[in-house]
Amino acid sequence: MHPISDRVFLAGALRAPRSEVRITVLNPSTGQPLGEIPDGTAADVDDAVAAAAGAAGAWSATPARERGAVLARLAGLLREHAEGFARLDSQDSGRTLAETRAQATRSAEQLEYCAGAADKLEGRVVPLGSNVFAATVLEPYGVIGALTPWNAPLLQIAQKTSHALAAGNTVVVKPSPLACFSTLHYAVLAGEAGLPAGVLNVVTGGAGTGQALVADGRVDKVTFTGSTATGRQIAGVCGARGASVALELGGKCPLLVFADADLEHAAGETARAAFGTTGQSCVSAARILVESACYDEFTERLVEASAGFVGGDPFAPGTVMGPLISAGARERVHALVADAREAGARLAGGSWPPPAGARGGGGDGERGGDGGFFMNPVLLADVPEAARIRREEIFGPVTCLERFEDEGEAIESANAGPYGLAAGAYTGSVARARRLQRGLKAGNVWINCYKMLDPALPFGGDKASGIARECGIDGVLNFVKPKALVDAFPT
Ligand code: NAD
Repeated sequence: MHPISDRVFLAGALRAPRSEVRITVLNPSTGQPLGEIPDGTAADVDDAVAAAAGAAGAWSATPARERGAVLARLAGLLREHAEGFARLDSQDSGRTLAETRAQATRSAEQLEYCAGAADKLEGRVVPLGSNVFAATVLEPYGVIGALTPWNAPLLQIAQKTSHALAAGNTVVVKPSPLACFSTLHYAVLAGEAGLPAGVLNVVTGGAGTGQALVADGRVDKVTFTGSTATGRQIAGVCGARGASVALELGGKCPLLVFADADLEHAAGETARAAFGTTGQSCVSAARILVESACYDEFTERLVEASAGFVGGDPFAPGTVMGPLISAGARERVHALVADAREAGARLAGGSWPPPAGARGGGGDGERGGDGGFFMNPVLLADVPEAARIRREEIFGPVTCLERFEDEGEAIESANAGPYGLAAGAYTGSVARARRLQRGLKAGNVWINCYKMLDPALPFGGDKASGIARECGIDGVLNFVKPKALVDAFPT
């Protein structure tokens, strides 16, 4: 599977864009160009929304079981092409081949879940009295504008489209310009699976392309996954024009370790939660809260467990961590660590400062670098309140250790701050687990496990981490709205 350069997917086919501006997409493992994509103009967005609006009536009228069958066929095609997608996403996003293979399988499962849900979106009969018949039906919104980040390209498009299409909506996707080739391939396969022309359209480009899509009055609902700052701007535009919006935003997720936990297990899982995906997951464990009674022992075990996390070629067997997505992303994460160190944070593990060549892109990079945007893990402790890293999302292989004395303090500290996406805890006590499940303010709470995600489980955040949920039946219900029907024939 190769990068599809210089095309948008419009009305059922790959086509030349109207835009004359191109964005060069880099392979983050090498810093070398991978392909070129159109920087979609307002006219490209206009074409795509017109195609989606034109197809909306027929698709919503298609029997739900038939819509489900199309998604099931697309799932089958994804499974057939899983290795190609995984290799393309590893080149494009820098995620390891093991991760992108798992995401290709997850993407097919996501479609299979939604294929099964399509014909189960039922309304209700409401008992208002004997002279009236009152009922609800669940109707699609119409045209959905979907904006995705770069960090799990295939899975993001599968998640963003599967609920909406199952529910009878048509979609225009604007993927991240940093990693979007699998989105275009997905759209082509959707056509092969029998999705009618115009039901799914893809316009590539940067923030301007996204802004044109969000502002378009024919887009009935916007679904966005990305940073909290962008999400707030999008919510403002949607609010002003009265369009529905679903937001999946950033996180700064706490992971709690209690002295009664299996510390060896907890240390291994914590290293993966913090440094897996090079820390570039919205649910990466950015704060590690450890009970005083086991702080020293756990820290030692965590440093040991983190030793294998070294940036390397995503295709090499045994690589557990790829590069950061761009030189800019690495500079931002470096700056956060430098600021914390200047403020007095202690280096508890990992390596800092980075080798000279790993600063600012190019050069020899860190181990496995070859000009890519690699960075090795950094484990900070005693980070002063003044440091920016205490508040800002990191999105890189850096995490901060904190100490707590008792469960109440741990819960209060974990809930402090603006985000509420996910929280994890390791403990040997079932009673404590139940208290944590109630007390932790986050859309996802994992006990003695971390990042347990499934197409059947709703996923999303509270507070600055988002509005609404994806996945599970809640995710599908996000893309229908109830209409109340009452008739009162004289009796
Ligand atoms: P981003 O906000 O920079 O970009 C996301 C998408 O929005 C891209 O397609 C981008 O081109 C587009 N965009 C940017 N500015 C826009 C604007 N003003 N109007 C319309 N569209 C605009 O995010 P990113 O760097 O691609 O992704 C990383 C972020 O995504 C992190 O904050 C991470 O936590 C978050 N994320 C959240 C989840 C979740 O499910 N909660 C999942 C993955 C990533």
